[in-house]
Amino acid sequence: MHELSIAMSIAEIVEEESRLADSIKVEKITIEIGTQSGVMIEALQFAMEEVIMHSSFKDAVVSYEIITATASCEECCHEFDIQDFFMVCPVCNSSKTFLIRGKELKIKSIVIERNN
Ligand SMILES: [Zn+2]
Repeated sequence: MHELSIAMSIAEIVEEESRLADSIKVEKITIEIGTQSGVMIEALQFAMEEVIMHSSFKDAVVSYEIITATASCEECCHEFDIQDFFMVCPVCNSSKTFLIRGKELKIKSIVIERNN
């Protein structure tokens, strides 16, 4: 499963980052995910739960920030949200459009507790 390997690499990054930061506890992980990232959000959430259960940060809270994909029209400069792969401008019907955001898939932040 695609999402499982993504979840595993996210966990690896979190593990590495928290080790580098001398963390004693990972409190919260925020993942930014675009609606055009090619990842099924529910599947990723499910995979993250599985992976975290077997990690050193079982109690970490994972929060997801969904970024709605937005495209812009080259003809009339109109910006619009896209639901699927249909990217025709709703104002002028042009198909000369390009994606501004929505392909994101990254760890936005990791909140840790440190041993002072
Ligand atoms: Zn347009």
